[in-house]
Amino acid sequence: MTANEIRDSFKKFFESKQHAIVPSAPMVIKDDPTLMFTNAGMNQWKDIILGTREPEPRRRADTQKCLRVSGKHNDLEEVGHDTYHHTMFEMLGNWSFGDYFKEGAIDMAWEYLVDVLKLNPEDLYVTVFEGSPEENIPRDDEAARYWAKHVPEDHIINGNKHDNFWEMGDTGPCGPCSEIHVDSRTPEQRKASGLSGRELVNKDDPQVIEIWNIVFMQFNRKADGSLEPLSMNVIDTGMGFERLVRMLQGKHSNYDTDIFQPIIKAEEQITGLKYTTFEEEASHASPASSASQASINVAMRVCADHLRAVSFSIADGQLPSNAKAGYVIRRILRRAVRYAYTFLGQKESFLYKLVPTLVHEMGDAFPELKAQQQLISKVMKEEEDAFLRTLEKGISLLDKAMEELKAAGKTELDGVQAFRLFDTYGFPLDLTELICRENGFTVNEAQFDVEMQKQKERARNAAAVENSDWVIVSPKLGDDRGLNEGNSDAGSDPLPPNLGGSEQIFVGYDYTEYECHILRYRKVTQKKNEFYELVLDYTPFYGEMGGQVGDCGVLCNEAETIEIIDTKRENNQSVHIVKQLPKDPAAQFMACVDTDKRDASAANHTATHLLDYALKQVLGDHVEQKGSYVSPDTLRFDFSHFEKVSDAQIREVERMVNEMIRQDIQLDEHRDVPFEEAKKLGAIALFGEKYGDKVRVVRFGPSCEFCGGIHAKATGKIGFFKIISESSVAAGIRRIEAKTGKECEELIYNTEDSLRAVRAFFNNAKDLQGVIAKYIEEHDAMKKDIEQYQAQRVQNLAVELVAKARLVNGVKLIADQRAMMPNAAKDLVFKIREMMTESFVCVVGSVFDGKPMLNVMLSDDMVKDHGLNAGQLVREAAKLMQGGGGGQPHYASAGGKNPDGLSAAIDKVVELASL
Ligand code: ATP
Ligand code: MG
Repeated sequence: MTANEIRDSFKKFFESKQHAIVPSAPMVIKDDPTLMFTNAGMNQWKDIILGTREPEPRRRADTQKCLRVSGKHNDLEEVGHDTYHHTMFEMLGNWSFGDYFKEGAIDMAWEYLVDVLKLNPEDLYVTVFEGSPEENIPRDDEAARYWAKHVPEDHIINGNKHDNFWEMGDTGPCGPCSEIHVDSRTPEQRKASGLSGRELVNKDDPQVIEIWNIVFMQFNRKADGSLEPLSMNVIDTGMGFERLVRMLQGKHSNYDTDIFQPIIKAEEQITGLKYTTFEEEASHASPASSASQASINVAMRVCADHLRAVSFSIADGQLPSNAKAGYVIRRILRRAVRYAYTFLGQKESFLYKLVPTLVHEMGDAFPELKAQQQLISKVMKEEEDAFLRTLEKGISLLDKAMEELKAAGKTELDGVQAFRLFDTYGFPLDLTELICRENGFTVNEAQFDVEMQKQKERARNAAAVENSDWVIVSPKLGDDRGLNEGNSDAGSDPLPPNLGGSEQIFVGYDYTEYECHILRYRKVTQKKNEFYELVLDYTPFYGEMGGQVGDCGVLCNEAETIEIIDTKRENNQSVHIVKQLPKDPAAQFMACVDTDKRDASAANHTATHLLDYALKQVLGDHVEQKGSYVSPDTLRFDFSHFEKVSDAQIREVERMVNEMIRQDIQLDEHRDVPFEEAKKLGAIALFGEKYGDKVRVVRFGPSCEFCGGIHAKATGKIGFFKIISESSVAAGIRRIEAKTGKECEELIYNTEDSLRAVRAFFNNAKDLQGVIAKYIEEHDAMKKDIEQYQAQRVQNLAVELVAKARLVNGVKLIADQRAMMPNAAKDLVFKIREMMTESFVCVVGSVFDGKPMLNVMLSDDMVKDHGLNAGQLVREAAKLMQGGGGGQPHYASAGGKNPDGLSAAIDKVVELASL
């Protein structure tokens, strides 16, 4: 079976078991401050598991793009060196939210692997949680019993808490898990090792590896560490797709499957080098496991893997950059460039050449790749080029450092220097070491580590956020105002008690003020600043999301008024930020949004939709939103487009948007529309955005988008739209900044005021442009006159000085000092040279604007026959006026700071010329 067929068979199997097949969430996470990238299939269901989103449909399955390069799961350093960990990989998963539990999950997994895919049961081992006496959790006998229906006892292995007990975090849902491991050793390997597969499970053997993990969430861990039963049991499974394909294709390395081989073949073709597969290595038919062949293999694996990670993340809207998630991607790309540079001899950009192969292989399953191929290649090439320049620079710095070491008779590069190379030039330690080694030097690694540690601490202190536990104020959802419709399940499933057992209701699309209670709050400390986060039962406050900033406003009742300074969004809920807690947190409040700011944000958000529409009309369908920022006073919109937007195009876009504003198109909003239906409405879905099962569609006439943001009730509210800048943010990405409404009004007043001020300079002339053009003409003519006049003066002066030249030892000497502009002084000595052909020394000192200047001109015979050098004379003499300069042997000049030293400097030239 091909990889694509295997992916389909998984979906088909779980579909036949009544699972809803859902799309992969984006790999890049945009709305969770605790996680930058999806690292497991369950990430996108976190809010369901935490009880803040309805669980229907309760059975789901998908393939999820995962990235494990930071935080809790970081496999980056393994990747390429082993053959079964990737940075980006697909995790096949099936879920049950309060539907089937252990028995169903185990039976289905077994049926799929053995009955459908025909894996040999003798090669399969399963683990179950051995229990934890100190936590009073017994062994997971239940799971073991269900496994025993399928496998012999000696294929069931007890596992410890580290491997077989899954926890979402310090608190929250957790439970035992069962992993399925496969023994894929060759008969020779089995014979040589003499160990059974059972003995190698979880022992890091590259041929006895975990392929599927089935998590049974059944407990909730409380803040005090104790466990209580979870109200809704959850099945969460994750199977590594690349590992599964490898088993089914009878390979011994993920890279030998049809997922990676086409990419590796492309690498071979470009580099002219050969990759050796597991079989080739094993049969010794290849040029062997020499060290250099091993390095080539590692480098090819690294590049094939990282190509996927970087391409998928760009397709999901995360470009390489110098901060946060963007920096993680940049580091992955640089790791690949480094391996290609060092071991594959690629001194020029290389990875981007592999993009067509990747798109050819994976573009059908992941259309976002196909649609954005051009952007991916462009961004990748630009990043590669930039990093290669950095590498060159680092190498030349390192060369210099090694030269200095050699001169000082040392053989060790100090770690501080190596760290500076790393930190400032992105020059990695292993490359520094490699180059040093090649030149007979070592690097002080311990020192490097100390510097690295110091930097990490600096970063940690700067970013440290301390969250205290949530304090539950009100245990159940507000009062009985009957707003529960649409959340019909909120009552049927009691939610985890440590979360307050409630789901917040957002009423902000219809209200800006609403009665509410505080459900829970917690204290947050960041950089010594303290504030509180509040979750309300009902809230009209919009939490920052989709580029639109969060609302601010107040929480008030008769007793007090608390300012809400910002609203964030976490796990599908608005979290309100306040500086102080109410005296009585249990009281009833009115939550009131600052409507001036809200209306301005809403108008700007609506304007971005119109802008998006107009850009597509004017520039073409390739325009895809790549980011946006909407606040009360401005809007910013990033989009894919490969050249500068011309002034004429900008004007056309502005006219189109303003026309739509004048049409005063009413907001046409559809809430809770099933995703597929929304697409039929013609709504534009963005690659890299996470959409729930039900979505909201926002339409203003021809502009129709998936959007959860707050909008103007009609386009007329925007008032007026004006683009204030157009620029490039990255390869293939343009940025437009614009203003609307009141901000535009201010913009126009400012422009008018400065125009009026300019007009006043010209006696309020009616034809301002004509008057200014005339002034410029006059100015140019006058400048020309002055230049002619000056040239004449210089000419006269030259004649005068030549006539006055003194004869000293047979040499004509001109030494003169006067106030003069620098370029006139230079012209003067050149004029003199034209008049006196041989045997002269001319020194002219001039002062302009309080700054001294020295010009020295020599005849050619003074240079040739008398060994004089104007450059040397000037350098020496300029010291006397605190200056420096230089030039050629026959002419040189110098500027200085001290005009009082000028005459001494002139004398010095005369003296040095031995006259
Ligand atoms: P391992 O111990 O092999 O690193 P894990 O315990 O980290 O695996 P889980 O977190 O349970 O794995 O993830 C579920 C499944 O995802 C694994 O059984 C495996 O098949 C797959 N998987 C995990 N990490 C990777 C990776 N870096 N590359 C490819 N597949 C992976
Ligand atoms: Mg792991």
